[in-house]
Amino acid sequence: MPSLKTTATRLLDRLGFVSLLRHLGAGRNHLYVLGYHRVDEPDHRPWLDPSLISATPAQFAEQMRLLAAHYTPVSAEDVIHAIETNRPLPPRAVLVTVDDGYRDYAEFIFPVAQKYGIRPVLFVPTAYPGRGGFWWDRLYGAVMNCRGEYLSSPLGTYRVGTEAERQQALIRLRSYVKSLPFAEAMRFVQSLAEDAPLPSPQEPDTLDWDELRSLAARGTTVAAHTHSHPLLTRIPFEEACAEIRTSLETIRREIGQALPLFAYPDGQAQFFSESLMAYLHSQGVRFAVTTVEGSDRLRQAALLSFPRLGMHPRLSAVTFSLHMTPLYAWYKRNVSRSSAASYGESTPD
Ligand SMILES: [Zn+2]
Repeated sequence: MPSLKTTATRLLDRLGFVSLLRHLGAGRNHLYVLGYHRVDEPDHRPWLDPSLISATPAQFAEQMRLLAAHYTPVSAEDVIHAIETNRPLPPRAVLVTVDDGYRDYAEFIFPVAQKYGIRPVLFVPTAYPGRGGFWWDRLYGAVMNCRGEYLSSPLGTYRVGTEAERQQALIRLRSYVKSLPFAEAMRFVQSLAEDAPLPSPQEPDTLDWDELRSLAARGTTVAAHTHSHPLLTRIPFEEACAEIRTSLETIRREIGQALPLFAYPDGQAQFFSESLMAYLHSQGVRFAVTTVEGSDRLRQAALLSFPRLGMHPRLSAVTFSLHMTPLYAWYKRNVSRSSAASYGESTPD
């Protein structure tokens, strides 16, 4: 049975309220940036952390249909052009972004986006194409494949006998990993993964450079997301700069061009800074996205720390539409400055 909240939002939608909100106060130059990671069924690739799934293929198709019907999908070029020429974006402009370069991008995301003439941005950490093996998937595998009642880690011993206990252990361990200097964090994950080896998948979890070039030729913007996907404020500043520089150079070399775009790994507020923004600017980057929840006008002060709307499978079609209104942007900016649940401490990226 649907919850009271679901029933209420459906009713408001039927009464045309959502459509009204979409148009009310639609400020000039407002941009909605949708943030996806994986679009897949949880049991399709069970060795990968399912909390990175942003939508099922069916939900994603419905969301793209809504974008095409009620919004103006724009490309990364459109956004950069608007910034550089100071020309406003069309009303209800929306940019679709996808992080990390998982294989499902080519299976489920791009074909649907293409059908609706939508040109997504794929933010790729340049050390990972054709390889995969992100730390959060390795940590997930280590905890979920653990045999027995207990998992001992350098942080302590966890009960992992039941599904609920494994989930609880995973949340604690992820949060701990994010608090460590990055090199130490990777040693910590490595030590756990060694104790409980992963099943080796048949094919790499991420797209390789040939596949990325082919997607770029057909309308995907492949853009920088660091090289090795560290949390940029958990490594020395010079290393963070090198991560940014290497990712821009590698995209340029492998794809042929790199638009002046960037996505911070796990872009919650504690993982980027004013000095990183200044460095990005010095490298020519003109638009950088975070995982701070919300949307904004394409205004100077927001360009290098732009919020996104975090997609997750619990978002109903009506809530999705409600999030894509200026009222929600105002609410997130002024009332609730916290990150979305999908990007909270309990999720890896
Ligand atoms: Zn990422």
